[in-house]
This record gives sequence, C-alpha cells and structure tokens, in this order.
Amino acid sequence: MGTFVKIVIASICVGYVAVKWNRPSFDSESLRGARVLVTGASSGIGEQMAYHYARFGAQIVITARREKVLQQVTEKCLSLGAQKALFISGDMSNESDPDKVVDFALEKLGGLDYLVLNHIGVTRFAMWDGDVDHVRWLMKPNFFSYIQMAWRALPSLEKSKGSMVIVSSMAGKLSNPFTAPYCSTKSALNGFFGALSHELAMKKSNVSTSLITLGLIDTESALNAVRGIITTPAYPATEAALNIIVTGATRQSELYYPWYTYVMNLFKDWYPSLTNHLIQNALNYDP
Ligand code: NAP
Repeated sequence: MGTFVKIVIASICVGYVAVKWNRPSFDSESLRGARVLVTGASSGIGEQMAYHYARFGAQIVITARREKVLQQVTEKCLSLGAQKALFISGDMSNESDPDKVVDFALEKLGGLDYLVLNHIGVTRFAMWDGDVDHVRWLMKPNFFSYIQMAWRALPSLEKSKGSMVIVSSMAGKLSNPFTAPYCSTKSALNGFFGALSHELAMKKSNVSTSLITLGLIDTESALNAVRGIITTPAYPATEAALNIIVTGATRQSELYYPWYTYVMNLFKDWYPSLTNHLIQNALNYDP
C-alpha cells in the first residue's frame, strides 16, 4: 500500500474518531414524556423508532397507511412503556393528509417536541424505464409531504425548543443505479432541509434539524428490493432507529449510519471515477 493511500486512510479514521468523540452525551430521561410524531411507523425503521421512544417513556403519535398494523404497533408501544401511543392513518401522497396528521398530533399531544419524518412511497429497484409520472408522484410522499409537515409543525416546535429529524439516505448524497426516482427525492430532501437549517440558525430559531444519512438497513422492504442484486451487508434496523433517536435528542445536525456511509461521502469527491467503478461493480447485473 502506497504512503499516500495510508495517509488518506489514516486521515479518514482520525476524522471519524474526532466526529464520534465530539458527540454530545445522550440522556434517555430527556425523552420521558416527550411528544413525538413518527411517520412511516407501521414497519421497518419507523416501527423500531416507535418502540425505542416507547421504552424511553415518550408520548407518541405514529402514522402510515395501514390502520390495522398501526393499531398493533401502538399496542406494543403501550406495553413497552409509552406514556401515550396513538395512531392516525394517512397517505402522504395525498395533498391534505400531511397537514391532517400533524394537526392530529398537535391536538392529541398538546404540541410536539420531535417531528420524525421517515416514510417513503413505494418505488421499484430497477433501471429507469422513462416513467416521468412515477418520479412526479414519488416526489409527493418522499419530498412534498416532508416540507408540508415540517412547516405545519414548526410553530409548535419553536415553542417547545423541539427538533425535526429527516430520514434521508446515502442515495441522496451519492447517486446509485436502479434508484433514479428514489435518489432524486432524497437529494431534494437534503437540499431543502440543508437550506432550511441554515435559515433557522440565521433566524436564531429554537428548532434543531437532524439530517440522517443511512446505508443499507435490514428492513423487509429494502432486503426484498435488493435481493440477488446487492451483496453489501445490511445493518440492523433497531440499531439504526436508536442512532436516529439519539441524534435528534442531542440536537446533532447529521448522522451517518452505518460508519461506511461517512467514509463513502468523503471518498466520492476525492476519487469520483474509483467510486463510480466500485458502485457499478457492487451490483449483480448482466446486460
Ligand atoms: P419501510 O420498511 O418500507 O417503511 C416505509 C413506511 O412508510 C411504512 O410504514 C409504510 O407503511 C409507509 N408508507 C409507504 N407509503 C406511504 C404513503 N404513501 N403514505 C404514508 N406512509 C407510507 O422503509 P424503511 O426501510 O424502514 O425506510 C425508512 C426510511 O429509511 C426511509 O426514509 C428510507 O428512505 C430510509 N432508508 C432506508 C434504507 C434501508 O436500507 N432500509 C436505506 C437508506 C435510507 P404503510 O405501507 O402502512 O403505508
């Protein structure tokens, strides 16, 4: 291994350790009684976040489309120790549901301390086939509903010195094949909430924003989508969920989970052609 490569690897490791070292400490008691809205909580990472918040004794409203599943998740949240657990079904591709869901949470909880935006609309993991209408549609649940809910919840979060947590993806930082519509929506989220966090800071707002960059996580939907195409290891949803919650509770502006997403984000600008080569060859694709 050349000296230069060794220096690059050593610098990345030092940078990563420095970021970890500087993390503020998490006090789980700060979440007892906290008023939380989690979207996309009927399955996957959102469901796991609901259970963690429940264990910390929070008051939770969860949402997604499937009412029966939401009911089961709220029952489990109560059994795990949630002070309150309520659900409201909503389709985030529908223009009025994002406001309806936030209004429900504000009314039932008397305000909000955390708005955790996590849902995504269903999309195929495949090469783009020219379906512009699908991209236009996917922007509704994955992007427009996020900004609509954030705006609706902002006055309450301002009052409570609350936090917005935006669950994004490595796909929002680094384009991947087979995910063109999804990458577009996640890049839009990164751009919008990056700008909003500057504006909130400039206005000396009380509200913190946490932008979450995730790699492959072992949720059923993700594993079904990539089966046979990607062999990268998937990290546990429950651990991803806990890391997201800690990032929001400690008001950190970003989280990279798992660790390799942080390295890839640095690497992509330093070695673009090598990064592209690695991405294309990590996929099992035979033209
Ligand atoms: P998931 O298991 O597929 O869960 C998606 C959630 O969104 C479900 O609760 C689903 O419930 C809800 N949903 C779907 N369509 C909806 C709609 N139109 N309106 C409202 N809710 C809708 O997803 P996940 O893997 O946990 O991912 C959660 C977040 O992590 C997403 O933002 C995703 O982009 C991000 N992420 C995940 C991975 C990964 O590998 N898993 C990697 C990077 C980033 P219903 O079907 O009941 O509506």
